[in-house]
Amino acid sequence: MAQVPTFKLVLVGDGGTGKTTFVKRHVTGEFEKRYIATMGVEVHPLGFHTNYGEIKFEVWDTAGQEKFGGLRDGYYINGQCGIIMFDVTSRITYKNVPNWHRDLVRVCENVPIVLCGNKVDVKERKVKAKTITFHRKKNLQYYDISAKSNYNFEKPFVWIARQLTGQRDLELSEMPALKPAELEIAPEDKAAIERDTNEAAGIDLPEEDEDIN
Ligand code: GDP
Ligand code: MG
Repeated sequence: MAQVPTFKLVLVGDGGTGKTTFVKRHVTGEFEKRYIATMGVEVHPLGFHTNYGEIKFEVWDTAGQEKFGGLRDGYYINGQCGIIMFDVTSRITYKNVPNWHRDLVRVCENVPIVLCGNKVDVKERKVKAKTITFHRKKNLQYYDISAKSNYNFEKPFVWIARQLTGQRDLELSEMPALKPAELEIAPEDKAAIERDTNEAAGIDLPEEDEDIN
């Protein structure tokens, strides 16, 4: 049988944003994960079935080292794609996104990167859709997600798979098995979240802002 195309995906973002929760939703990835003791890293192989065949992401997740500053180069080396996560209930985690992006692209040049705002299930959201503009300046894709409710779980992977394969019409032919949602987002809340995102996409970028890069 032909080898499944496999890509190293670097998962970064502040501690507490939900990276580990997110990657552990995928049942077979969680079952097949490996621990690299010398790096303090868990690697979760997440497989997806698409209309172009199977694709696998070896998702690198830290054991918490990001809480003490940046990650070592070995974490990023040979990364072929990335997810930068922040927590929509914590402004500081969004403010730190440019730092994570800088660290990632310093080692992984020109790789597809998705920015994810996690915990959109929380009602008291602090980082509103219209303030999330970093991805537009850097040509990243953005998704609202909620790891605990599985909301948009597959979206970052599908977007990255399209970039890596060049197949713009790549779709999942089957959803991966996910852990059952720990909470549900009410349909009217989902509609409101999506309306805000679409509205924000139509707003012009401010000419000047505080991001230095
Ligand atoms: P990490 O440090 O980035 O790996 O973050 P963790 O996965 O350890 O999660 C940090 C905290 O956020 C934990 O208490 C999780 O239960 C919580 N959390 C993660 N994802 C979500 C989410 O989608 N919604 C909510 N409400 N809490 C979440
Ligand atoms: Mg973690």
